[in-house]
Amino acid sequence: MENKIYNIAIVGGGPGGIASAVESVILKIDDIILLEKGENHSTTIRRFYKDNKRVDKDYKGVKVNLDGNIRFMDGTKESTLDLFDEILSKNNIDARFKTEIDNIKKEGDIFVLRTTNGDELKARFVVISIGKMGVPNKPAYPIPLDIRNKVFFNANSINNDDKVLVVGGGNSAVEYAYFLAQSNDTTLNYRRNEFSRINDTNKDLLDKSINEGKLKTKLGVDIVNLEVQDGKPKVNFTDGSSEVFDKIVYAIGGVAPIDFLKKCGLELDSAGVPIVSSSCESSIKNIFVSGDLLFKSGGSIANALNNGFDIVTEIYKRMQEEK
Ligand SMILES: Cc1cc2nc3c(=O)[nH]c(=O)nc-3n(C[C@H](O)[C@H](O)[C@H](O)COP(=O)(O)OP(=O)(O)OC[C@H]3O[C@@H](n4cnc5c(N)ncnc54)[C@H](O)[C@@H]3O)c2cc1C
Repeated sequence: MENKIYNIAIVGGGPGGIASAVESVILKIDDIILLEKGENHSTTIRRFYKDNKRVDKDYKGVKVNLDGNIRFMDGTKESTLDLFDEILSKNNIDARFKTEIDNIKKEGDIFVLRTTNGDELKARFVVISIGKMGVPNKPAYPIPLDIRNKVFFNANSINNDDKVLVVGGGNSAVEYAYFLAQSNDTTLNYRRNEFSRINDTNKDLLDKSINEGKLKTKLGVDIVNLEVQDGKPKVNFTDGSSEVFDKIVYAIGGVAPIDFLKKCGLELDSAGVPIVSSSCESSIKNIFVSGDLLFKSGGSIANALNNGFDIVTEIYKRMQEEK
């Protein structure tokens, strides 16, 4: 755990997160950090826009006046990424890449953000701007077509009589395995022998369910591939063993945005959109939400930039009042 307490921790390095970071520096708020799970900022733009794609400021014809200081204009994928590179570097933004936030917990007046690697950092304010394009990580080997409906990335579709394999070694995997083991024949598979990334509560739950004989484990072995046997997944492990399951749940990172928001305890409306105030503050005081997450569908770069500006203007005001 880092001892430093950041003023603002920004989760997600797309337009909403970048604007929150840059506008903070312009307002002279120090000790801010931008946390991005990709190898660089703007993963959505890099991954989903075609090279040379035209980028419209008034996306899909919806006119948006820019309120903040970032001079975003019509251009291309490349010119947009160049603009973001430039403003991040010019404003010396402390950006930490390859850092995926797994959950956020409140401890007194401070938020503790935990990464999927088990690192923790603390902040007084949090901006969540993780977009809507997050997809759970998939295994490197193919999932045969005939069993795709037996393979899941959360535990929502498991029935009580299913024999389940949960794959993964983080908090989500352990939580799914513990929960399913109460009613199902459940095995937890992790490629390592030790669960070094999980919190103490999950460690206790894991030990308890293993000791009580409810949860089986397959530790220190990886999966070579999946085959189909009688319409079910047959899993071949690196130790040469094989086993057939009714269903497999992979929890190997890349939590879907809605699951992330629920995990953090944010109130959502019936469409899964976080309930926020006019300054984009969530149901949890001092946690703000920006960008595409605020839209049932749609959203745009200009909107995300404006959200970032509005949020840090509000945070700045609160910090001034505290002085
Ligand atoms: C194909 C396509 C074309 C588009 N064209 C345009 C256009 O021309 N003009 C326009 O204005 N808009 C366009 N958009 C929409 C625009 O890209 C989005 O509105 C904008 O990117 C939203 O910004 P955001 O910050 O909310 O989210 P995103 O840009 O999605 O950024 C979210 C970031 O958070 C990171 N992240 C996710 N989860 C975590 C986590 N747990 N921990 C750390 N980091 C995390 C992601 O890796 C990502 O970098 C287009 C979208 C698509 C898909």
